Amino acid sequence: LSSDTTIWDDAVALDRRHVFHTWHAQRNLHPEEIVGGHGSWLRFADGRDRLDLTSQQVNVNIGYQLPAVIAGIRKQAELLCTIGPDYANLARGRAASLVARRAPEGFDKVFFTNAGADANENAMRAARLVTGRDKIISSYRSYHGNTGSAISATGDWRRKPNDYARGHVHVFTPYLYRSEFSATTEQEECDRALRHLEHVIQFEGPDTIAAVLLESIPGTAGILIPPQDYFRGVREITRRYGILMITDEVMTGFGRTGFWMALDDYGYTPDIITFAKGCNSGYVPAGGVIMSHDVAAHFDDVVFPGGLTYSGHPLAMGAIVAAQEAMESEHIVDNAHDVGEKVLGPRLTALMDGHPKIGEIRGKGVFWAVEMVADRSSRKPLDDATMGAIVRAGHEIGVVIGVHANRIHVTPPCVITPDEAADGVDMLEKALKEAGC
Ligand code: PLP
Repeated sequence: LSSDTTIWDDAVALDRRHVFHTWHAQRNLHPEEIVGGHGSWLRFADGRDRLDLTSQQVNVNIGYQLPAVIAGIRKQAELLCTIGPDYANLARGRAASLVARRAPEGFDKVFFTNAGADANENAMRAARLVTGRDKIISSYRSYHGNTGSAISATGDWRRKPNDYARGHVHVFTPYLYRSEFSATTEQEECDRALRHLEHVIQFEGPDTIAAVLLESIPGTAGILIPPQDYFRGVREITRRYGILMITDEVMTGFGRTGFWMALDDYGYTPDIITFAKGCNSGYVPAGGVIMSHDVAAHFDDVVFPGGLTYSGHPLAMGAIVAAQEAMESEHIVDNAHDVGEKVLGPRLTALMDGHPKIGEIRGKGVFWAVEMVADRSSRKPLDDATMGAIVRAGHEIGVVIGVHANRIHVTPPCVITPDEAADGVDMLEKALKEAGC
């Protein structure tokens, strides 16, 4: 402790000495210090404001320091900072009602969790209990969170060292640019991915499968926009075999895609929806499970064997209520939609002309991927060193760029203005040039 007092005001030194960071070997980390934020801008310790094209973990939909949400949290803090899940509480009830109204008709009940992973964990638990079946089918190209079943349902590299939960099966989902099905059109990709899913169900044994769990738009895996008919097809197949459908809206929910829920654009109704991030933009951690009437009714007289000390924590609930009201009154979802259609979509697509290392641009709302390749004919992913150089160049120029494998994920807050979004793309282009792309 005595040595700590010498670095008491030095955030980076304290971080290096005491903070254990997620998903990293610890030795060579060099975290930047952030001292504040406003709207779509982050204030760094070097005194510069940089435009955030990441929204951090793609969760800060309302941007930084929205006054109405700070006031909502403060009001709730003054009233009651904490109360257990067994009581009724006005903030909790209001939050549940505001969240449920963004789900399809008939989804009235919300089980609150602390984040997205435990939302998926409890959604899978509910599906297993309702069906009396064991297996969950999910996509290889997915991320569902870092807890027991959620990490086993995840498809990407993070599953492999953590894969201890049983009853998980993976399938390939649509990704035309790197088709697993030798498809050359969206329709072929859609049809073949559905046929593959149905075959896996048949070979696994339909009566062993509780649910198919899918992100509305696989996010961390590459912002892979599914073909328009895909989810309706999944819905048909799951109904045919008595399998539940869980839609993971943790990253896509509450405005990210220019819709309240990404599933709104696909015209289908799942059985369970999970959410987190955008519900209050992480001002206080929260997530949850929205249940359709039938799923919720199963537990009317049967105990749900799951719970959390902080299920529906009042500060998180106050933040949800204020964030949801601000999103509605300030038309934040419409803004995300328009910025996507009028600025990000056209401006990012135009970058393809001058930058041969861009293989594909895809996205909607404020949810875009720029897929970088060594060359367009081989589609070989661009190397990590160059991707890192793009991020560093962006930092110097004044923009925070998010990179996942060979993709740049352009996911600014939903409140970004059209001018800021245009400036963001200009700065991204400069960073691409400086990194030799
Ligand atoms: N589901 C999806 C689609 C996600 O993107 C994430 C996090 O990135 C999660 C679940 C896990 O959420 P959390 O990190 O809040 O546990």
